[in-house]
Amino acid sequence: MSSRTKDVYLVIGGSGFLGRHVVEALLARGDAVSVFDIVQRYHDVPFYMGDISEEEQVADALRKSGATCIIHTASPLHGMDDPALYWKVNVDGTQAVINAAVATGVPKLVYTSSAGVVFNGNDLIDVDERIPQPEKAMDPYNESKAKAEQIVLAANGKGGLYTVALRPAGIFGPGDRQLITGLYQTWQRGQSHFQIGDNTNLFDWTYVGNCAYAHLLAADKLGPPNPAEIARLKEELQVALPSIECTTQRHRVPTSEARPLGPYVTPPPNAEKILANWEDPHYVPRVPRPAVRGKFDQFSEAALVREDNAQLQVAGQVFFVTNGEPTGFWDIPRIVYRFFDEHFEKPNTRRRIILPREVGLLLASAAEWWSWLVGKEPGFTRFRVTFSCAWRCFNIERTRRVLGYEPQVGLEEGLKRTLESWAAERQKVGKS
Ligand code: NAD
Repeated sequence: MSSRTKDVYLVIGGSGFLGRHVVEALLARGDAVSVFDIVQRYHDVPFYMGDISEEEQVADALRKSGATCIIHTASPLHGMDDPALYWKVNVDGTQAVINAAVATGVPKLVYTSSAGVVFNGNDLIDVDERIPQPEKAMDPYNESKAKAEQIVLAANGKGGLYTVALRPAGIFGPGDRQLITGLYQTWQRGQSHFQIGDNTNLFDWTYVGNCAYAHLLAADKLGPPNPAEIARLKEELQVALPSIECTTQRHRVPTSEARPLGPYVTPPPNAEKILANWEDPHYVPRVPRPAVRGKFDQFSEAALVREDNAQLQVAGQVFFVTNGEPTGFWDIPRIVYRFFDEHFEKPNTRRRIILPREVGLLLASAAEWWSWLVGKEPGFTRFRVTFSCAWRCFNIERTRRVLGYEPQVGLEEGLKRTLESWAAERQKVGKS
């Protein structure tokens, strides 16, 4: 039996893609959960219809549901031309959620931020949570998410409320309404042979189930600083974390203890053992491996002292959440395009055209200008070009150590589940 004291959850935005996965994860472990949203899509948990920018509506749902923990995943979708709406929901709405939580005595708030709050078009290579938010955000959506995150963190420890913000990168999975739909539209337009940039830029994605799991871990660990837990984490900092092998599985990397023997004239005394290790698919090289930390490491002695161990706490902190398996940006779209080719038996046989970033930016400017002229939403934008050519990969060591997060579903398996569910959904509505 777990020693966890059970919370009662209100998932704000629980009718959405990620929110629904959070609800399902909570139900799967037998927790009490209700949903607050502007639309109702499911009927298996208590539902409170409302808008987060109306504080009284949130407070009412908190009182009625008896929630002790809020998981706030609500936001308008990215990509709309409506800065006022983003501000109203993400900034004013998040402030209203905090006010309602304090007014009703709810002690925990887990906020879904976004890795996009630190992206302004520049390359992000293995950055950790110390990277500051840029002065100018990439767009109004990310600006509002960044501001909301600041509000959430500033509310920590005030009025009996503890808060934490998670920053997932590129969520995908069954129920997604953005990524696969966008790629499908590109494929339908016959544009799947275009690639912008040379695909050397690594990019992080997050399977939605992993992301939901991280939210539950954050909720479980959220609370006042725990000196015993901090001492335990500090001790563990001495040991390196194992690599993430969800998709790749364990590589048989030769070590002196496990490799096929070369043409020795005289085999070493432990030759049999070495060979047996090599043959054994479950052989794990000796652990623990010591962690080597330089001066600039977020967990170096100096950094821990400077930050007063804040990076080992949950409350008032941000955490990047990814699959920990960065890939070339175009790798995922290519797999999805190939799936469409096969699913619809309509392969795109045209030769791949690789446009340099600068050409992409020029074409996108022209497309944006044309869309403005004819009064349509542009499909091809400078944001998209910048996005697909930039490095965006994040260091998740803090999330793994402090939240105890390990991705449960690898990229490959996650993508398989996503595409199967996409095809099943289409079949349900009578499309091939
Ligand atoms: P989604 O649109 O599927 O879900 C959002 C939910 O919020 C919807 O059900 C919507 O009805 C609800 N909502 C919107 N405005 C509301 C309001 N005023 N009051 C109450 N409910 C409201 O989006 P998603 O992809 O599941 O994203 C969930 C969260 O994750 C968002 O906060 C988003 O910013 C963040 N995020 C998403 C991604 C991604 O790739 N999808 C990446 C990083 C961060």
